[in-house]
Amino acid sequence: MDAWVLGNPGELIRIKKPIPIPGNAEVLIKIDAVAICATDLEIIEHGFPAIINGEKPFNKNFTPGHEFMGTIVKLGANVDEYKIGDRVAVEIHAGCGRCSRCRQGMYTSCHNYGNNYGDINKGHRANGYTTDGAFTEYAVNHINTLVNVPKEISDEVATLIVTAGTAMYAIDTLGGLIAGQSLAVTGAGPIGLLCVSVAKALGANPIFLSDIIDSRLEIGKSLGADFVLNANNEDFNSFILKNNRNIGVDYLIECSGSLQALDQATQLVNRGGKICLAAFSNQPSSVNVGNIVANNISLYGIRGEGKSAVKRAASLIKQKSLDPSAIHTHTFNMDDLPEALKYAKDRIDGAIKVVVRN
Ligand SMILES: [Zn+2]
Ligand SMILES: [Zn+2]
Repeated sequence: MDAWVLGNPGELIRIKKPIPIPGNAEVLIKIDAVAICATDLEIIEHGFPAIINGEKPFNKNFTPGHEFMGTIVKLGANVDEYKIGDRVAVEIHAGCGRCSRCRQGMYTSCHNYGNNYGDINKGHRANGYTTDGAFTEYAVNHINTLVNVPKEISDEVATLIVTAGTAMYAIDTLGGLIAGQSLAVTGAGPIGLLCVSVAKALGANPIFLSDIIDSRLEIGKSLGADFVLNANNEDFNSFILKNNRNIGVDYLIECSGSLQALDQATQLVNRGGKICLAAFSNQPSSVNVGNIVANNISLYGIRGEGKSAVKRAASLIKQKSLDPSAIHTHTFNMDDLPEALKYAKDRIDGAIKVVVRN
C-alpha cells in the first residue's frame, strides 16, 4: 500500500508498505478520510508528542495521522462485534487493559511500572503517536477503538467524531452535569468549537466563546455559542459579568493554549467554578494561586478522548443534536497531503478542519 512516512523534521515521503494483518480482536480498515490535527503539524515539525520505540519519530518509517474513519475490509480472529463493510471512526488510543488507569477507562493516560503507554506488546497503542497512523491506505485497529458511523454522516464529517469525543471528555471531566450551567470556552479551534456544540447539545446555558478570529466566532455562533467575543477588542471578564447576571461562569474549557489563558480563566469562573485545560503552550505560565484557593476553584487537565467519550459524541451526532459539519472546511486527495498540511498550518482560505481522502 502507499504510505506517507516522516523523514527528517518537516519532511514527508511516500513509500510502499505491506498491508497490515489483523490479529485477535482486531480488524483491517480501509482508510477513507483523515482530518489533519494541529498535533500532526507539531509531530511533523518537532517529533513530540510522537515517540517510536522511545525515540523521536524521524526516519523510522513512521506514518503520522490520527483522526480518521474508514470501512472494515477484513476481520481478525474472534471478531463478531463488527462485519465487513461497516463504516467506523477510530479512537486514537487502545488501552493496555492491565494498568489501573486503563481499567478506569483513562486509556489516554495509560501508565504502569514499566510505562505501558505505547508498548504494543502490552496491548497499548496510539495511532499516529506510538504506532503507524492514517496517512496511508489501510490500518489495523482493536475493536475497542471502533465507533460506528451513522449512515447519514459523510466521511469528512465522520473524521470529526473523534475530535467531538475530546470535547465530550472535557465536559465529563468537569463533572458532566452541564445542563443549565454557564460555560466559557476560550479558543475557537476545532476542539473549542466542538466543546461549544457538545455543551449545547447537553444543555449548557449560556455559552460564551472567545477567540481573535471573527470568522471562527461566527462558526461558533452557528454551533450554539450564545455570546461570542473577539478578545482583541473587548475585556472578557466584564463581557461575562454583563451577560451572566453579574457573576462569573460555572465552567470554563481552555482551548487556546495562550500563556495568559490559565490566569485569565481563574478570573472568569465564579466561586466554586471548574476549569478544564484542553490546550497548552510549551512555556511555563504564571497564575495567581491565591485566586484558585480563595475561590475554591477546581483545575483539571485532559488528554485526548478517554472513557468511551467518542461513542457518546457519535450518539449525539446520530440523534442530530450535534452537527459538526461547519468545522470541516477543505478536502484534498491523499496524494496531495503536503498541500493539505500547508492549508491547515497557514489557515489558508479560512481553513479549520482540512480532510484528506483516499
Ligand atoms: Zn488530534
Ligand atoms: Zn494501561
